[in-house]
Amino acid sequence: MNYRKFQADKIFTGFEFLDPGHVLILDEEGKVVEIVPEMDAGDEIKRYRGIICPGFINTHCHLELSHLKNTIPPHTGLVPFLLEVVTNRNHDQSLILDSIEKAEKEMELEGIVAVGDICNTGITLQTKSKSKIKWNNFIEVLGMRDDKAEANLLHYESILNAFTAAATNLEGVSFKSSLVPHAPYSISNKTFEGINNRTGGDIVSMHSQENPAEDELYKKGTGDFIQFFNQLGLTESPFPVTGKSSLRSCLPHFNKQQRIILVHNTFTAEEDIVFAKEHAKKFLSGIHFCLCVNANLYIEKRMPPIDLLMKNKAEIVLGTDSYSSNWQLSIASEIRTIRKEMPAIPLQLILQWATINGARALERDDVLGSFETGKKPGIVLLDNALQAQKIV
Ligand SMILES: [Zn+2]
Repeated sequence: MNYRKFQADKIFTGFEFLDPGHVLILDEEGKVVEIVPEMDAGDEIKRYRGIICPGFINTHCHLELSHLKNTIPPHTGLVPFLLEVVTNRNHDQSLILDSIEKAEKEMELEGIVAVGDICNTGITLQTKSKSKIKWNNFIEVLGMRDDKAEANLLHYESILNAFTAAATNLEGVSFKSSLVPHAPYSISNKTFEGINNRTGGDIVSMHSQENPAEDELYKKGTGDFIQFFNQLGLTESPFPVTGKSSLRSCLPHFNKQQRIILVHNTFTAEEDIVFAKEHAKKFLSGIHFCLCVNANLYIEKRMPPIDLLMKNKAEIVLGTDSYSSNWQLSIASEIRTIRKEMPAIPLQLILQWATINGARALERDDVLGSFETGKKPGIVLLDNALQAQKIV
């Protein structure tokens, strides 16, 4: 057996930094054999400057929006941003496919090994079918009308079936695919019900509290989203006024042991974090809070309440969101931004979010997320400026 041996200034295992003087040993397929003291490692050790980590997990992306790179101006606020996305979606097919290919390659070179990817269509299938990255395809439902809910869900199920069929027919692809709701401001009650009934035990992501207007919509039926609905031809909010926050109004639709990934959480209050964890204990198999800090700064110029999430021991994971609201698709860049904005958070913790926590959220921790014996997590090198490079 040919072993491959790696040493760096620091090894991050997925959980912690090891003392200097350790060597990571992989077999020829890239599976972790063990981590040993340097004196027991023998020769032919590759040495690097910086930190070596398990491959990164990007828990939230929209690969199919990659052609919107540099299209939508930053700092518009959420509602004008959404209208820009709706109007800019349709471009020349070959241009869209080309930008998807480039974005997939970029993520691979940045050391990303698994992606939770939002799909409104099947356009990313071609690229994903020959990708080295593992894909959790979140087939994202948009559906504001109760009377059209079932017909609408059938449409999205046909996209889901295309991904499921590809996973069975193509060798080497690693897909997990499920239906997910877009956001509290785009899903009617019956649509939520239909998604809940179809996702028992699945992983379900939902954009949540990206903007304070989401709460206002459910608490009072007013606010910025009314303008968004008007643009779509609706005269008023299609959703019930519950008097509660959007998260409290919508999360209870899920009660079939799904694993839920809440994305953004930029305006999530502490009581909502507590509520979500309580709901998860009774009805879900897990709840994860995904941070996409570069996208939050791009759209709203605002950081999510990381301190509150940490205080309440929330399971934090990281995502890049899409090229409609980011300058690059790089988990290392998300880490650098968190370091810059909140320097008190230890790097070890942020690296856990980027590796083992993300792997758990995507149910990939049997293979990815840490340097534990038998796993095949890939290796990413972070240099002293926290720039990433895939090395395995
Ligand atoms: Zn998103």
